[in-house]
Amino acid sequence: MVSKMKTVVVTGGAGFIGSHLCDRFIENKLKVICVDNLISGDLRNISQLLNKKNFKFVRHDISKPIKIKGEVDYILHFASPASPVDYLMYPIQTLKVGSLGTRNALGLAKAKKAKFMLASTSEVYGDPLVHPQPESYWGHVNPIGPRGVYDEAKRFAEAITMAYNRVHKIDTRIIRIFNTYGPRMRKRDGRAVPNFIDQALKGKPITVYGNGSQTRSFCYIDDLVEGIIKLMNSRMHTPVNLGNPNEFTIKELAKIVLELTGSKSKIVYRPLPQDDPKQRKPVISLAKRLLNWQPKTPLKEGLEKTISWFRIS
Ligand code: UDP
Repeated sequence: MVSKMKTVVVTGGAGFIGSHLCDRFIENKLKVICVDNLISGDLRNISQLLNKKNFKFVRHDISKPIKIKGEVDYILHFASPASPVDYLMYPIQTLKVGSLGTRNALGLAKAKKAKFMLASTSEVYGDPLVHPQPESYWGHVNPIGPRGVYDEAKRFAEAITMAYNRVHKIDTRIIRIFNTYGPRMRKRDGRAVPNFIDQALKGKPITVYGNGSQTRSFCYIDDLVEGIIKLMNSRMHTPVNLGNPNEFTIKELAKIVLELTGSKSKIVYRPLPQDDPKQRKPVISLAKRLLNWQPKTPLKEGLEKTISWFRIS
């Protein structure tokens, strides 16, 4: 007997990570329902999928209840503004999609008896006092600061996901995604990687915030997608960090982008945004052990691919 084609719902499916997931699921012969309200997503990210028989785009804000006909096997809840610039511009929407949106996506998972995955974030660790960050660290978040709208929404999202797992026995997964980059990030996204590449390619000053000594660890999108698929196929309900543990200062990142683009742009220093985490690096021993996963793409290689994409788009 031919096994039934599985259906996956991806909220935020027209976003940066969501659209790469939609590509992968179509490639893997799943039926994909992509739900997005397009406040930070973009139809151009899924233009290659719109005419595919097994792909459906639904323009909908998941903060409002959703009805979907037919069977659904997997729900991946990736909808949310994710750049600090975006969640400062859409603070209420960010809070709503993390709270009401997660509740609605879980409600759908319950109704359809579907497996559920929450895209959480390293921001749940806030400006961390423990370095690097293991999943067991509870974090250091300012609930009322400008980033609180994202951090607390995602912390609530994790809490409600675990509650649905415990009470309704929903088969849930939680990933804590660390800084991820790659093609389809928007030029005006506001995050360091797209800002620096865009600035370098246009010969504009590279805006390093603070003195650039704050650190991040950057994971290439293809590595992240691999980890997401492996986690979905695991049986792990508690959060799992996915990210690249190679740590760089933001000033180092700026210099690497200058080197790879061959740009003559100058580095300029701008004020550090409030509550900007001073350091961030995932402990990925759990993902390594559980999923046999670790990122493969070195920063320079991933940046080269990203720069090539920025040049032609
Ligand atoms: N950053 C910067 N210049 C920019 C954009 C960001 O120096 O044009 C810094 C930002 O202050 C932070 C780091 O780069 O310390 C990473 O910021 P991003 O917005 O990419 O993501 P975050 O990790 O803060 O969510």
